[in-house]
Amino acid sequence: MRDVRDDFPILSRLIDDRPLVYLDSAATSLKPQVVIDAVTNFYTHQTSNVHRAMHLMAEESTRDYENARKSIARFFNADEHEVVFTHGTTEAINLVRRCLPRVERVVTTVMEHHSNYLPWALDAGGAVVGVADDGTLDLDDLQRKLSNGADLLAVCHVSNALGMVNAIDQIIDMAHRAGAMVLVDAAQSAPHRPVDVKALGADFLACSAHKMLGPGGVGVLYGKSEHLEAMGPWLLGGDMIEQVHFDGYEVQPPPHRFEAGTPAIEAVIGWGAAIEYLSNLDMADVQRHDSELVAYALERLTQIDHVRIVGPTDPDRRCGSVSFQIEDLEAHGVARMLSNRSNIMVRSGFLCAQPLHEALDLAPTVRASFHVYNRSDEIDALAENLEAIVALI
Ligand code: PMP
Repeated sequence: MRDVRDDFPILSRLIDDRPLVYLDSAATSLKPQVVIDAVTNFYTHQTSNVHRAMHLMAEESTRDYENARKSIARFFNADEHEVVFTHGTTEAINLVRRCLPRVERVVTTVMEHHSNYLPWALDAGGAVVGVADDGTLDLDDLQRKLSNGADLLAVCHVSNALGMVNAIDQIIDMAHRAGAMVLVDAAQSAPHRPVDVKALGADFLACSAHKMLGPGGVGVLYGKSEHLEAMGPWLLGGDMIEQVHFDGYEVQPPPHRFEAGTPAIEAVIGWGAAIEYLSNLDMADVQRHDSELVAYALERLTQIDHVRIVGPTDPDRRCGSVSFQIEDLEAHGVARMLSNRSNIMVRSGFLCAQPLHEALDLAPTVRASFHVYNRSDEIDALAENLEAIVALI
């Protein structure tokens, strides 16, 4: 993949005259100039609402908003009416929880982000599949829980805390054989690898623009047409209705049925630009770049005394990030030291996956995560700083 660093203006920021080492893309990614330009252009030349007015600017906004939907549908190999814009992954998952009828028996896993755990394990009282010591999903346990009866399996493609890639094809196949639909949380996979909803056979899939080089405040719920058609609206208001009368209303077909109120128009248009940018880089190359960085990070970090990798050490089973702990040092302290010493930005804590940390009896962890703009010299900087921090123990 070509060197894309010049496309990301924030990377020229200096803090105390030294460069920024941004290793927190699993939380949110940096934005390329084309995305910033798309959002700025909307504010500078085009501000107007969508799907309502007859004037020229509204027509332009509606065209660009719907063109972004087309690009995003193409990116995921979906049909455009299967692409519902939401605020992000969290809202997409909650939309399914609120609107999917006849879902009584749910299965989820202990490795889910809180966004995919709370609605299903706690709110819906779903069965929770466990993991092995290295975080690998226990497929025997999954089979048992599916065999007990399941309407829906909610599972992540890639764990945000472990960076681990689930055997998603096999998992979806197991669920379908047991008669369950599958909701895939693709928040951590869609930014780094091709995701084809038709090839996967997923019933639903959720992800967020802000982790995919796009703006904040928008994401997608993909749903198979037959499921979306069967679902009622979740928010009532403008744009989701065909007609409103004194004593009743008629809803629009999907996807507009689920997009009540003025959407995040500029964010959707900006995401369209991000999707074009990623497509031009080629997602196969994006995946290769990610795999190289993950493999290099594992190689460097496993050589440092007192550093313990959390999750699998086989790079082929990871995507986007490497989590670790340093013996006798608390994760937040390590993250703060990396920031203070060398402007290295990493995430620390339970990483919105506290049940997983409890299941594995893990203290909070540190996570270094990557995207297209990261380079191996930044991993060298991380490793050298960790060596210096370990030397203080
Ligand atoms: N699922 C996973 C796997 C995630 O990593 C995240 C974000 N950290 C979410 C869901 C929630 O995404 P958002 O906050 O954009 O709704």
